[in-house]
Amino acid sequence: MTDRHIPADLPERIQHYIDGEFVDSADGDTFEVLDPVTNETYLQAAAGKKADIDRAVAAAKRAFDEGPWPKMVARDRSRILHRIADIVESRDTRLAELESFDSGLPITQALGQARRAAENFRFFADLIVAQHDNAFKVPGRQMNYVNRKPIGVAGLITPWNTPFMLESWKLGPALATGNTVVLKPAEFTPLSASLWAGIFEEAGLPKGVFNLVNGLGEDAGDALVKHPDVPLISFTGESRTGQIIFGNAAPFLKGLSMELGGKSPAVVFADADLDVAIDACIFGVFSLNGERCTAGSRILVERPVYDEFVERYAAQAKRVKVGDPQDPTTEVGALVHPEHYEKVMSYVEIGKTEGRLVAGGGRPEGFPTGNYVAPTVFADVSPDARIFQEEIFGPVVAITPFDSEEEALALANDTKYGLAAYVWTNDLKRGHNFAQAVEAGMVWLNSNNVRDLRTPFGGVKASGLGHEGGYRSIDFYTDQQSVHITLGEPHNPTFGKSAHAPEEPSLDDPDPR
Ligand code: NAD
Repeated sequence: MTDRHIPADLPERIQHYIDGEFVDSADGDTFEVLDPVTNETYLQAAAGKKADIDRAVAAAKRAFDEGPWPKMVARDRSRILHRIADIVESRDTRLAELESFDSGLPITQALGQARRAAENFRFFADLIVAQHDNAFKVPGRQMNYVNRKPIGVAGLITPWNTPFMLESWKLGPALATGNTVVLKPAEFTPLSASLWAGIFEEAGLPKGVFNLVNGLGEDAGDALVKHPDVPLISFTGESRTGQIIFGNAAPFLKGLSMELGGKSPAVVFADADLDVAIDACIFGVFSLNGERCTAGSRILVERPVYDEFVERYAAQAKRVKVGDPQDPTTEVGALVHPEHYEKVMSYVEIGKTEGRLVAGGGRPEGFPTGNYVAPTVFADVSPDARIFQEEIFGPVVAITPFDSEEEALALANDTKYGLAAYVWTNDLKRGHNFAQAVEAGMVWLNSNNVRDLRTPFGGVKASGLGHEGGYRSIDFYTDQQSVHITLGEPHNPTFGKSAHAPEEPSLDDPDPR
């Protein structure tokens, strides 16, 4: 690839950002960041450990306890969040260029992610101004209201698949609600996260509100999870990591939000509009290089259209354009890292023993180096196959036939995951019944995964714990304190005043808890 575009002014090293300053690790340690197209080191990033996390948490705690941010009126915080959105929008091309270079994501998709990051900030900027909390009145007797408060220092731990966008997904609501944060981005892709500091400074976010510590999960991530001054952790990543974090957070009884892995089914009934379903099922697993938590990576197809579906799907998968991530015509770029590439390739080899290979199956032609995987399709995959059960997180899909709605539902639910499901049918009743019965946190009916930001986002089973999205994010990042005021005479069951028997209980008595 001789005419490869390399972004101008790439940094050679990146630091942490603590209390408004860029700093190295306390012990000076760094780790290498690779370019996924050449797998050569292009960047050294500060490798944070417990000492760096301690420093970042102390700064965030100070900003929370003593700074203006948590006490600011919503409109003022909202203005700063809108400025952040404006700046992100105005730099979308540069952000996309850097993100694509660092992660291997196709540039056009990275651009969409940058714009979505801006939209996340804009959305929560609007939401906190519109936010209202409940008041419950008992005429003449009592008034009760909800006093919503930011919680403190939020620990945000993010994966590498859509780095900047996923960071915005946590930063937006955490900051909007008045918390201060320590972000620990994924070690494979730290480049775009380092841009937040400049964006926040320019938008006027007070010092110490945003802190960033780079580093490995088992060092920096682990220290953040175990820090006693971090009362809540929002984590997105693998289910196995989620289990470890859950255990490590347990002694502190921390608030946890977990967005974990997936193996989502796309279920195509014979009456579906096949052209649209095929397009959606191609995009659903090959976009973002297949490194997508909500990927429809198991396609279940009703027997009468199965052969036609497989043939047309495989033909289209072969036409999906693999290429340099920076090329605007590229549809599948390079996987993020050689370790991940090896994992995906090992599943391709496993798949060859478990299913019928109808497209791809290894490196695409013309790409002798770099983390490139040809869009790969296995048909006739049985439900006990590893490629049916396990998250591959690459451009690899398993197709399985079914004969009845009951069988489709059983197959759809037959994994440990439950993040998303896609249903394709023109039978209204069946579509809704299936959508409601499938074990998935989110279902799209005759739709690709287009999301309204107000809706809950989250998985069931091994795919997650809790929901974020819209008001659920506001709930996660705030405490809702109930304040009760007596309006009339205080109602006290009288104890110890006279010899006669206590009064009969009444609903006005103090709560029995
Ligand atoms: P990962 O679990 O390996 O890492 C995620 C983050 O956790 C990284 O920042 C990592 O450094 C950190 N980490 C690792 N070990 C840790 C520990 N012991 N303590 C604290 N932090 C630790 O995940 P990944 O490989 O970066 O991302 C891919 C996974 O993320 C896939 O499983 C994918 O499905 C999932 N994902 C889920 C969603 C969702 O919304 N459900 C979205 C995107 C990605």
